[in-house]
Amino acid sequence: MTNVTLVTGDGIGPEIAEAARRCIDATGAGINWDICEAGTEVMEQHGTPLPEETLQSIKNNRVALKAPITTPVGTGYRSVNVHLRQTLDLYACVRPCKSYKGVRSKYTDIDLVIVRENTEDLYAGVEFEKGKSETAELISWLNKHSPKKVREDSGISIKPISVFGTERIVQFAFDYARKMGRRKVTSVHKANIMKFSDGLWLDVSRQVAQKNSDIEFEDRIVDNMCMQLVQKPELYDVIVLPNLYGDILSDLCAGLVGGLGVAPGANIGDSAAVFEATHGSAPKYKGLNKVNPSALILSGVMMLNYIGKQAEAERLEAAFAAVIAEGKDVTYDMKQNRDDPTAVGTREMADAIIRKIKQR
Ligand code: NAD
Repeated sequence: MTNVTLVTGDGIGPEIAEAARRCIDATGAGINWDICEAGTEVMEQHGTPLPEETLQSIKNNRVALKAPITTPVGTGYRSVNVHLRQTLDLYACVRPCKSYKGVRSKYTDIDLVIVRENTEDLYAGVEFEKGKSETAELISWLNKHSPKKVREDSGISIKPISVFGTERIVQFAFDYARKMGRRKVTSVHKANIMKFSDGLWLDVSRQVAQKNSDIEFEDRIVDNMCMQLVQKPELYDVIVLPNLYGDILSDLCAGLVGGLGVAPGANIGDSAAVFEATHGSAPKYKGLNKVNPSALILSGVMMLNYIGKQAEAERLEAAFAAVIAEGKDVTYDMKQNRDDPTAVGTREMADAIIRKIKQR
């Protein structure tokens, strides 16, 4: 048995967590689930949306499947998602984007993986607000030391990109490519303009590539990459990016394969990995047995691969793909017409996937 923490989340979280857990169990993967709570619904009881026992369970088991969690607005609580990422140093955000027959999309045959750096770049949170004394101090220092002048009424966000952070994420992309039998890593940057941040990213990417010469490597400038992804996505395989470009291109690639409903993901570090759907907690659908469990089920496929259960991962993905291709036992959002009365609920879609697993 492998111990895995299941964080049931809030909003639609508990329904899709249950659907994903049942599908994973049907593969015979032998998971010993530690079912843990987090989210707005447990805030009152625990005084925090991330109870200590939930965090401790993830630390002990090192692997979690996590349903979405609402970010409380105006309560003073931090986002659980950000907290987990920072506390567990989950530095790699992995988002596979794959076409499945039966999912509405303008493209077919897409099979890409985005690997996004999760800790640095303009999202590091090193920011200086317009008008504050420390901002004025920083601007005056910059204007003394840089030939380019910064206007006094500016707000400033700093873009740190380090050798350490770049090396570990690019190496992660190569290791992932090797483990998953992929052929190429593309490193994305804007090194022609930002020489000391993206330039460093590119230099380090090339150095890491030299040590991983069994896998093809290339680099692309981010604006060109966007155009190429729309025009010739079949040319790409594993794409590694700094935080900001990674955030934007993840959504672009999710759009290529049919949107959030089928977009799985994972945040991975050296000591823990948290697998989760890209979408949020969709509170308006809570408790209606209506939403699509696919993204969390596909995150479960990623999790099974991560813990070395490749055969079970393949069975689950194949069963999912068969149900989607038939288009019968799927939720409303996967039907041609969203009002289609033949759409099934979250639980029934999971049942259909489980039936397919058992037939195989
Ligand atoms: P959302 O992803 O919850 O919803 C966006 C749209 O997609 C809505 O129309 C929703 O109904 C639909 N949708 C989402 N998941 C669906 C599914 N499985 N099946 C069918 N339709 C689905 O995004 P939001 O409304 O911006 O965010 C709601 C809350 O979730 C916020 O508090 C946000 O912070 C949080 N959030 C959490 C995570 C996470 O836990 N990783 C990620 C994103 C957003």
